[in-house]
Amino acid sequence: MVIAIETSQNFIEGRGNNICRGCLGLNLFSALDLGYLPIANELLASEDTEINRFPLHLKICKKCGLGQVADVVTPEQIFRDYRYLSSMSTTFLTHASNFVARLLEENVFTPKDWVLEIASNDGYLLRNFLDSGITAIGIEPAENVAEIARELGVETISDFFSSSLAKKILKKYGYPRLIIANNVMAHVPDLIDFVKGLSLLCGPETEVSIENPSLANILVGLQFDTIYHEHYSYLTATSVRNIGKMNGLSLFKVEDLAIHGGSNRYWLRKSTIESAVDLSVERLISTEAEMDLFNSKEWIVYSTRVSSVLDNFLSWLRKCKAEGREVYGYGAAAKASTILNSIKIDYNMMTAIADVSLEKQERFMSPNGIKIISPQDLFTAAPTDVVIFPWNIKTEIATFLRSNLGGDVRLWCVIPEMHEVNLK
Ligand SMILES: [Zn+2]
Repeated sequence: MVIAIETSQNFIEGRGNNICRGCLGLNLFSALDLGYLPIANELLASEDTEINRFPLHLKICKKCGLGQVADVVTPEQIFRDYRYLSSMSTTFLTHASNFVARLLEENVFTPKDWVLEIASNDGYLLRNFLDSGITAIGIEPAENVAEIARELGVETISDFFSSSLAKKILKKYGYPRLIIANNVMAHVPDLIDFVKGLSLLCGPETEVSIENPSLANILVGLQFDTIYHEHYSYLTATSVRNIGKMNGLSLFKVEDLAIHGGSNRYWLRKSTIESAVDLSVERLISTEAEMDLFNSKEWIVYSTRVSSVLDNFLSWLRKCKAEGREVYGYGAAAKASTILNSIKIDYNMMTAIADVSLEKQERFMSPNGIKIISPQDLFTAAPTDVVIFPWNIKTEIATFLRSNLGGDVRLWCVIPEMHEVNLK
């Protein structure tokens, strides 16, 4: 049976706080309270700029299994001028081209088939389809990023995906053969409308592929630094199946991916299509239940573990300071912001943070306005220790740092616990 839920795209007060943004249920429990933190991707123009702080509190819905935080920032504020380009990481580029190569191997695409990607960024994934002569259309709200994709020849609609945009796309292009939505579901405040949009675009042949880091990995991998205001939702197989079902979609397969420290790839199709559901779905849903992912007691234990990771990092920074070591950070992204603002780092404990993005350099990160510098400036600055914040690509970064820094510079990661990064 398909349960229809009516929502509008308007702001729903309390969503993510006491109303579930997946099923509109009222059964949310507190999983991890990180206190008041600034918006993670907001960088400061000068080191003494005042920054606003907002509650960051992960809650989980007992009814549908969705993790979530309350909305304090609109997607327009984040994505219209988004500074992150997927092509900057070779790990992501390889992951995307491998995925497309596999799809082309397993499926026959006819000339009328076309592929839609939601949040297509700079076209790094879709251009692999174009190379094989398959029509691909991207949706990317950040205008500056969409323009880069268009220059590569990827037709890109610069807008947010919604049920109303889905209707327009359907009218103009018909049903896509494949819809790809990688690392976008977390950023959608009106999740129900988004899933309705997916459902509208699903014809008899359409398959939807959704990649998203898993809430289970936040628990087992202590990946609490992936919790930030711009990530409204934290998916589980349980929640994807439930929310899909409420909107006419059936979860028929789940894959485990190593990327981003453990992601899932969920495969959905119209629930009216009679076909077998892969064993992977039931297996992962059972695992999530066995992990006590939807049990508040498990998260009380977790909160204590998170506190001790943060305490250890702060003690380590204090020790380095006392020993006169020069600690730098690498990767001025949201993960760094969540960690640094959670421990309320003292002045001068971290000299600067290097980042490859030209748009971030010469800006400052809260708290205390830590300067963002270029990797080149890091190499000439003679650090003794560098903390790599994007742990999900730590090997790639460590290889880059190691080839440009002296052999006695020590490289570190905070997650899942403070450890030195040694290349084999
Ligand atoms: Zn729910």
